[in-house]
Amino acid sequence: MSFWETLEGVLARFNDLAHDFTWSVMNVTMASLAMELGMDELRWVTMGDERVCPLCREMEGIHLVTELPIVIPAHVLCRCHFEPVA
Ligand SMILES: [Zn+2]
Repeated sequence: MSFWETLEGVLARFNDLAHDFTWSVMNVTMASLAMELGMDELRWVTMGDERVCPLCREMEGIHLVTELPIVIPAHVLCRCHFEPVA
């Protein structure tokens, strides 16, 4: 059954989309601020719990240059974020 077939499914999907949009805005803002402050690198940070997916667990702690396209959220309901590297 598709999530579009019930009101609960539609609301849950909208909630997921709102989460992903919010996370995306937060990470784009973090990368923009880091660039403005002259910070060249961002560190990928996960929530560090058992819900972190294998993809994000592998990315934990790696450094990315701020000019790269923002790749977080990496998937639906990704909870990772960037931290600027001083
Ligand atoms: Zn993630």
